[in-house]
Formats: sequence, structure tokens, C-alpha cells
Amino acid sequence: MDGVKQQIIALLKKNIRNIPDFPKPGIQFKDITPLLQNPDTLELTSQVLARPFRKKNIDYVVGLESRGFLFGTNLAQDLHAGFIPIRKPGKLPAETVSATYALEYGEDTIEMHKDAFSKGDRILVHDDLIATGGSAKAATDLVQKLGGDVVGYSFIIALEALEGVNMLPDHIQKEVLLSL
Ligand code: AMP
Repeated sequence: MDGVKQQIIALLKKNIRNIPDFPKPGIQFKDITPLLQNPDTLELTSQVLARPFRKKNIDYVVGLESRGFLFGTNLAQDLHAGFIPIRKPGKLPAETVSATYALEYGEDTIEMHKDAFSKGDRILVHDDLIATGGSAKAATDLVQKLGGDVVGYSFIIALEALEGVNMLPDHIQKEVLLSL
């Protein structure tokens, strides 16, 4: 990593807050609101996220509800791609496809509009943070159900200890700004 990029990453790291025991005891919540609040880190985060994918002919950025929407639309704009939201059940108004995945206790479902993109379109999956990788994997399943080609993953933060990135297909490009 070049020196300037290292300095930018260090600056971004300083603007992520750790909130202990939120939303429940034992969880160290990584709060990205300071990144959004500061106009310099807001601009820099989008640029650093976009850089590795600039020449990858991305058709759409798929963002996961809800914090994947915050930088996902900027990222799409920077790549001159469209933006597609993946949402929790019952939130999207038109016809949807859904995928269900396991949580520590129970399961969760996510949905995407059926007409979100065309077969063969090149998709970049984005979220603010990857923990176990369950939601990014489910997003991949959704995109593939509709015949899309997932060509990259983009996360601001990876919780290293949970090794979520290892849940994702080996051959697909993965970019993480900060491993915490
Ligand atoms: P996972 O499916 O386990 O990879 O979880 C990723 C999703 O949960 C992302 O949408 C994150 O925003 C959220 N998430 C999980 N753990 C944390 C955490 N410690 N701090 C902030 N967000 C988290």
C-alpha cells in the first residue's frame, strides 16, 4: 500500500467509533456515523472504495439495508453504475426474489426487485461491514438467482476474527478498507 493511501486509511479508522454492548451485550458496534459527518472522510471513503473497481465495467452496485445504502449510492455514482437496494422482507413495493440465511440464533431473509437488472449484468456487492459473511453470501445468492454476475465485493470494515470474507467465493475480487 502506498504511503498516501495508508494515511487516508488511518484517517478513516480514526473516524469509526467503537460502541460497546450495542445493540446487545457483548457486541462491539462499529459506528460509521463520524465518517459520514466529516465532509473530508465522506468524500475520501467513497473515492477509496471506488478506486479498485473503476475499470471493472460494473453495471450495478447492490447495497445491503441499511448501512450499505449510505456509501453504496456514492460508490455507484463514482463508477457510473446504477444502484440496487437489497431490503428486509416487505419493504420493496414491486415483485421480489428472496434469500434466507442462518443467524447465530434463527434466520433472516432479504429481498431484491425481480427486475433489478438483466441476465449477465456485472454486479458489485457493497455493505458497510462484513461480520460472519452471511448477509453478503445471501446477497450473492439473490443476484445469481436472477442470472447476474457478481464480480466484486466492497466493504468498509471486516471483523477479522469472524473470517466472513472466507465465506465468499475465492475467485471474486474482495476489497476491504479496514480489517478490525
Ligand atoms: P454478517 O451477515 O454477519 O456479515 O453481518 C453483516 C451485517 O451486520 C452488516 O450489514 C453490518 O452492518 C451488521 N453488523 C454486524 N456486526 C456488526 C458490528 N459489530 N458493528 C456494526 N455493524 C455490524
